[in-house]
Amino acid sequence: MRVGVIGGGQLARMLALSAAPLGVRVLAYDPALDACTEAVAPVEHGDFDDLPALHAFAEQCDFITFDFENVSAPALTELSATKPVRPNARALATTQDRALEKALFLELGIAVAEFVEVGDLADSRFRTGTLAYPAILKTRRLGYDGKGQTRVDTADAVHAAFSELGEVPCVLETRVQFSRELSLIAVRGTDGELLCYPLVENVHVDGILSTSLAPARVTPELEQQACECATRLADALDYTGVFAVEFFQLDGHLLANEVAPRVHNSGHWTIEGAETSQFENHIRAVTGLPLGSTAPRGVSCMLNWIGKMPDVKAALRVPGLHWHDYGKEPRLRRKVGHATITAKDFDELAQRLELAGQVLGREWQVAPALAAMRKPV
Ligand code: AMP
Repeated sequence: MRVGVIGGGQLARMLALSAAPLGVRVLAYDPALDACTEAVAPVEHGDFDDLPALHAFAEQCDFITFDFENVSAPALTELSATKPVRPNARALATTQDRALEKALFLELGIAVAEFVEVGDLADSRFRTGTLAYPAILKTRRLGYDGKGQTRVDTADAVHAAFSELGEVPCVLETRVQFSRELSLIAVRGTDGELLCYPLVENVHVDGILSTSLAPARVTPELEQQACECATRLADALDYTGVFAVEFFQLDGHLLANEVAPRVHNSGHWTIEGAETSQFENHIRAVTGLPLGSTAPRGVSCMLNWIGKMPDVKAALRVPGLHWHDYGKEPRLRRKVGHATITAKDFDELAQRLELAGQVLGREWQVAPALAAMRKPV
């Protein structure tokens, strides 16, 4: 069996690595000649909107999926006429547009931060009066890792912020005073079975995920609330595969921020920290195999390597540390690798993180991870 993954970044690479033991091969598709999946699986090269090239790629595969959400949804719709595309093009089209996504949240009774749509310059002057400030203006499409968004402190500043973002359709959201950021990774099979991993606590620095702590220290009620949101979303979209829902936690309740229709950075800990990784479960779902247990194995902390890699020799001295080098060229704000530290409980995890701070330096996401662990829950 062969799964075609549109996109050849680290997510496709980790999908390929987890597919191999299942006897499933991955063929990736990416315009970049240095796509990092190439080290572990073949990559076809072509533009994301080159339909003939995408068709030729799909012909070589039994199933089609994708590793990032800026793939063209109309192209996916076309491909689905010949091969099963999982998740489907409608799920992608909805989740790649913040306004459509928020409309779906509201339709399903899922709470979100207060927002208004800002479609043009006239809106940016007149439609935003009643919103609570400070706020954030986000482009409806094509934003990631803090790109395509800017802080707006007063109603008067919306107009300039809209120009700064290129006068493309946006949503303007109230800035939420959250106590924590949480995310939920879930997987849904072709038969509609849905399994949730435990909620994860995330820390973002400059809009980029810095560290994830799993499982989140939350009440069973909050866990259930998050899994119910995921179930409603996946059922509404007739979703197949892994997806992530990002939440803001305010006291005892959650506000949904966004959905990623793919395996997600805040689920990397599952490779070593769960019975079945998010990557394996995505391949299982896409190929129609039974889903695997999402139960955690002990506790985990994922540290992202952003811009460049730390010293591998130092890092590997830390017990329970699992190393992932994506083989990417160093570049400012680029995710080039990660490590997951596993432990039997949070005390042992804190000791291992302290040791990581000593041998690597606490600037390697260790400081935010320790701060998150020490925050009262
Ligand atoms: P996003 O691209 O929507 O995931 O935003 C990236 C990060 O910006 C989030 O993970 C939060 O840390 C922060 N952020 C986004 N929206 C809000 C909001 N409405 N209130 C407070 N922080 C936000």
